[in-house]
Amino acid sequence: MQQKLGFTNDDVQSKEFLDFVTGNIVLTNSKPYAMCYAGHQFGRWAGQLGDGRAINLGEINHWTIQLKGAGPTPYSRSADGLAVLRSSIREYLCSEAMHHLGVPSTRALSLSLTGDQVLRDVMYDGNPAHEKGAIVSRVARSFLRFGNFELFAARNDLKNLKIVTDYTINTHFSHLGKPCKKVYINFFQEVSDKTLDLMIHWQRVGFVHGVMNTDNMSILGLTIDYGPYGWLEGFDPKWTPNTTDREHKRYRYGNQANIGLWNLYQLANALYPLINETVPLETILDNFKQKFEKKYIDMMRAKLGLIKKQDKDIRLIQSLENNLQLSETDMTIFFRKLGTFKNEQPLKGIEIIQEALYKPNEIKKDILHIWNEWFVNYSNRLNEETTSFNQRKEQMNKTNPKYVLRNYMAQLAIDKAEKGDVSLIEEFYQLLKKPYSEQPNFEHWFAKRPEWARHKIGCSMLSCSS
Ligand code: AMP
Ligand code: MG
Repeated sequence: MQQKLGFTNDDVQSKEFLDFVTGNIVLTNSKPYAMCYAGHQFGRWAGQLGDGRAINLGEINHWTIQLKGAGPTPYSRSADGLAVLRSSIREYLCSEAMHHLGVPSTRALSLSLTGDQVLRDVMYDGNPAHEKGAIVSRVARSFLRFGNFELFAARNDLKNLKIVTDYTINTHFSHLGKPCKKVYINFFQEVSDKTLDLMIHWQRVGFVHGVMNTDNMSILGLTIDYGPYGWLEGFDPKWTPNTTDREHKRYRYGNQANIGLWNLYQLANALYPLINETVPLETILDNFKQKFEKKYIDMMRAKLGLIKKQDKDIRLIQSLENNLQLSETDMTIFFRKLGTFKNEQPLKGIEIIQEALYKPNEIKKDILHIWNEWFVNYSNRLNEETTSFNQRKEQMNKTNPKYVLRNYMAQLAIDKAEKGDVSLIEEFYQLLKKPYSEQPNFEHWFAKRPEWARHKIGCSMLSCSS
């Protein structure tokens, strides 16, 4: 990111840069601002919100630079405007990791300690404690959210609704042409498509955002606001990392596309006053599900190394998803190892499963039998492809990452950094720059979650406290 903004290596070592990314100086000609937006949180209208601890410093090369955790803004309400090191490391590492995975995301430019002690009740259980304060400077073409549009619609402020929508189109969707009713509809179509693509990416890599409120939905379809997110270890559509959402699991892995669509309904409602016609908006929303299903199957085909498109693939994919849930099976390891599967040796598929299982010794014969059956079907299906083993493996390795920021890895980096050792942050930053590459020096990070992390706070249980 540093190069895109035109900062040299010397620049980022300078005192001036440090002052800039911690908000101690404001560059001439820039007017920092916090944004006001609204949102639906956990399915309910939450009214006006806003950047309570994010401050946009301005733009360089059309990239907006924003500080998160630099202190109160007009929208902080009763909160302190600060962020802790724990959540800042999580955002810094994960947003960069997502970018390198090819998943649209806001980026991170820097992570700094502030020297503040910040009081947080990590599990909301009446045990507040002081933590180190930190600031992430993050970067995106725009930090506009669905909630920016909902705000003005809810206030019935059509003038500002039009201003923010026209600005967004002119600045970020200018290829659609000059704003008018038709362009507003096309704009909504594009936001819908971008959101859909983002959901497909999240499903592909096993990322669970955890707080898909409309104030956390980027109008550019970026992953934004890294809070209690998590990565699937065992493949489980019902899993959510967010303990606040434990009861209803609204934001669980298997529900992200539905929620993406639900959020688009809220955006459609917000844009409606500019369009005054329901049919075109409804048509776009109605098409979302079908489009998603089609793209999802294509994405899964890619994960399985299937180039030809056959209707029966849907059954193969569905049975795979069922099988992955028979016993806790590591998603990342399973798919990565699947690239080594040889169609002429279907019964060897079991070895892949054994490696990905969390409790390989407890597996009953009937489960192994089900897997054997699946591998025979998969092998038959691969026989219909024309790609060679090596070609297929190479293609699969581009879609099935070897390295992701596993929940326990982020927590290890945090635990060390809290003691003053930032070496793991640097190590993961480097590792996750090449998530699809074999990196023999880092092979030990291609491993299942260790047992100690199964129920540990920060690894399997996360809250919004940050
Ligand atoms: P989030 O769930 O992190 O997206 O936050 C929801 C809202 O609360 C956003 O508008 C944030 O800016 C605001 N917020 C969260 N933490 C703080 C804080 N420590 N100080 C001020 N505002 C905050
Ligand atoms: Mg937010």
